Amino acid sequence: MLLAGIMMGVALAGLRTVADRGQEFASPGRYNEVWQSYNLSRQVTTLVATADAVASGVEPPERLKLRLGVMRTALLPLLRTQIFAEQESERPQVQATLTRLDQATRRWERESSWQETEAARRLAAEIAATLVDQGQDLHALVVAANLAVATQTDRQRQALQRTFHWLALALLLLAAGCALLALKIILGQRRARRLANDLHQLNLSLERRIQERTQALRDREALLQSILDSSPSDVTLIGADQRQVFYVSHSLLLQSGAEHASRFSLAALFVDPAEHARFVARLERGELIYQMEARLCPRAPYWALLNARQLRVGEQPAWLVWCFDITQRRRQQERLTRRADTDDLTGLSNRRALLRATVKQLRQRRHMPLSVLLIDIDHFKRVNDTHGHDVGDEALRAVANRLRSAVQDPSLIGRVGGEEFALVLPETTLAEAVAVAERLRQRIVTNPLALASGPPLTLTLSIGAAERYPREPLKQLLRRADRHLYRAKRSGRDRVVQSEG
Ligand code: GH3
Ligand code: MG
Ligand code: MG
Repeated sequence: MLLAGIMMGVALAGLRTVADRGQEFASPGRYNEVWQSYNLSRQVTTLVATADAVASGVEPPERLKLRLGVMRTALLPLLRTQIFAEQESERPQVQATLTRLDQATRRWERESSWQETEAARRLAAEIAATLVDQGQDLHALVVAANLAVATQTDRQRQALQRTFHWLALALLLLAAGCALLALKIILGQRRARRLANDLHQLNLSLERRIQERTQALRDREALLQSILDSSPSDVTLIGADQRQVFYVSHSLLLQSGAEHASRFSLAALFVDPAEHARFVARLERGELIYQMEARLCPRAPYWALLNARQLRVGEQPAWLVWCFDITQRRRQQERLTRRADTDDLTGLSNRRALLRATVKQLRQRRHMPLSVLLIDIDHFKRVNDTHGHDVGDEALRAVANRLRSAVQDPSLIGRVGGEEFALVLPETTLAEAVAVAERLRQRIVTNPLALASGPPLTLTLSIGAAERYPREPLKQLLRRADRHLYRAKRSGRDRVVQSEG
């Protein structure tokens, strides 16, 4: 481009020069010096003729003055021209002729007194005499002007020819530059086409690879989806801000009551909002939640085992939550626990369950009074011996039912021995406990038990009552109550005893 620019500049400059030279050649003023020389020669001849006529009185002096002015006017351009310096050989006589004419005419103009006829005639005679011999010199002037103009024209023509040469060279270089440029453009275009083609091929292969990858990802996603959908566990992957839901299994979505995955929220899943808050707090602390049991799906609650952890989806922190329905297991567990805590015969709590319930009461009501009644059926062995073991069993169940109906919290009454029961009375003083025991004892003794497998039975109860001392261990309290029961037995049975002695 630079080369083309330079060539263009050179060609333009050459064309400009050629145009200027052409203009000069076309100008009519080019031959002024030749015409001026002829003109001067003619004016000198005319001046000589006029000077002769004035000198002989034929014409007035003013006429000579006029011709002298005209002749000087013709002389002045030749005095100023540099054309004669163009000649190859110097012609000093030409310059001398011009100088002489200039000096003479100036002097004549200066010294002339045209009003004085005689002086004017004398001057006219002098002018005629001076100029009459100038014919030869003026002819030489004309010839010199011709030669000078011809020489100048020759030089200009040669210069023009050189300009043409340079111009031709510049045009040649320009053409070469243009050819190079065109070649470069063609090669560039070819290269661009090749590159575009390569790019196109690259794009195609890239597109193909993207399609293959996308398909592979889709397949994997579908596989993962089908694995997750067929998993016995429900799962969700939810943003830690709980706004973006990346995945939620179908059944979990149904349980939450949300119509669309984007509307799914963990909060709607939990039955207990406090449990949800604890769950979220643990995840926010970055804890790994392992086998947390919680009640889910407020619309149809069930027990679920939750496993959850924090992970990242791209740059975003997210929570992966797995929920496994453990309702069956939980029911079974509850059944087993109930069975383990329950006396088979009476359905009351057994000793261990009662003790656990009592400990719970002690923890909840640390500073409140608590009393215990130990109840033993008197001479129960005789029932068995008289009516048989089945009647004995039924009698035990009947007594248990009577005791159960007398208390508010059935977990606080238990069968602690064969025909021995214990009743825990929270927030109850010894006097109140003794009153309860008396009521129970009388209700049993005054109301014979109606048995399906035998005749009505009248039983009596011996009861040991004790109120817990502050910070007294449970075992000690029970031992005291047992001693009171023993005293009740020893002192005749069918009574309530509240002290040792
Ligand atoms: P006491 O007034 O001194 O308490 O006399 P008792 O006969 O009630 O006491 P004892 O300890 O001598 O006998 C308790 C009896 O309770 C013995 C046993 O046959 C009976 N018994 C214990 N468990 C069961 C049971 O599950 N079913 C039946 N039918 N009888 C039981
Ligand atoms: Mg007994
Ligand atoms: Mg007993």
